[in-house]
Amino acid sequence: MASLENRQFKLITRPVGMVKRSDFEFATSPAGEPGPGEALVRVLYLSLDPAMRGWMNAGRSYVAPVGIGDVMRAGGLGRVVASNDPALAVGDTVVGMTGVQDYAILKAKDLTKVDPRLAPLPRFLGALGMPGLTAYFGLLDIGKPKEGETVVVSAAAGAVGAVTGQIARVKGCRVVGIAGGPDKCRYVVDELGFDAAVDYKNEDVRAALSRLCPKGIDVYFDNVGGEILDIALSMLTYQARVIICGAISQYNHPEAIQGPRNYLSLLVNHALMEGFVVFHYAARYAEGVQALAGWMLAGKLKAREDIFKGLETFPDTLQKLFRGENFGKLILQVADE
Ligand code: NAP
Repeated sequence: MASLENRQFKLITRPVGMVKRSDFEFATSPAGEPGPGEALVRVLYLSLDPAMRGWMNAGRSYVAPVGIGDVMRAGGLGRVVASNDPALAVGDTVVGMTGVQDYAILKAKDLTKVDPRLAPLPRFLGALGMPGLTAYFGLLDIGKPKEGETVVVSAAAGAVGAVTGQIARVKGCRVVGIAGGPDKCRYVVDELGFDAAVDYKNEDVRAALSRLCPKGIDVYFDNVGGEILDIALSMLTYQARVIICGAISQYNHPEAIQGPRNYLSLLVNHALMEGFVVFHYAARYAEGVQALAGWMLAGKLKAREDIFKGLETFPDTLQKLFRGENFGKLILQVADE
């Protein structure tokens, strides 16, 4: 195993603004041997997530920042090529925090086996993985949507937003998505079954939401922050719930985050605004995956992945998230299945 070459992206500087190739070193070293209780995993697919931008910043967060000189943190799916733990066998398909590299050595207890017969492998990093679980727990645990309520979701065509809107439809809600561009808006309505969509790049969001949500917004699932959050806050109903899942419009300038101006709408409407991190729900992941898989089997949950090839393209491919150039869950394919 020591002879296997492992290409790795290491963070060498804390990015300012948009992440760049020069923030990383792309180097090769031997893959190494797994120790007791560990497995060596051939990474096949990497999950590229908006949160990765935050992990590169110094300072306190829900996880420690990626250290300077360390392999860039990333979720991934791969195949076990050597194991020193009875829980994993060579050939098992697993997901875990593999990092941006060809091979990862991880503790077996930090890897989750998936059944490759159940779905195309990239889906375990999307609707049946972390983003799907984020939608499930954020919407249902915090949003508590009730039948007939109006749910608004931003970044609606993305990995989390697409699942969120579809779960809200399963719960009998009227669902309005916000997305960038006519293709994504058509997709969420025609393919995913949202009731309506607002193209925030080409429409007046306030006017469109007023028209599409005449009674106001009961649940707002926020993935973007900034101006769109402020508009949604100004349209809340009595006892509305605002879920702070993410704020992608703000991630590239953490020193100057635009906070909500219209927060007094929470007071006036006895409304709730609550943030969360999906990892908090780790003990309940099995419940979430079972529900998501059930809806998928029943044809009520559709998913789409946007797959780019080549580990070497990592910094450029990651940028796509912040330009809205991904259409579905953004995935980097590192090796052939
Ligand atoms: P995604 O939605 O698949 O991709 C990101 C999308 O954000 C882009 O495609 C783009 O879509 C939109 N976007 C980018 N810049 C924007 C801007 N300035 N204003 C408005 N929209 C912008 O990504 P994802 O993985 O599903 O993540 C969505 C959100 O959920 C992120 O904020 C992420 O941090 C958050 N998240 C939170 C948790 C948690 O535990 N709380 C877990 C996972 C993800 P358009 O083309 O429509 O603009």
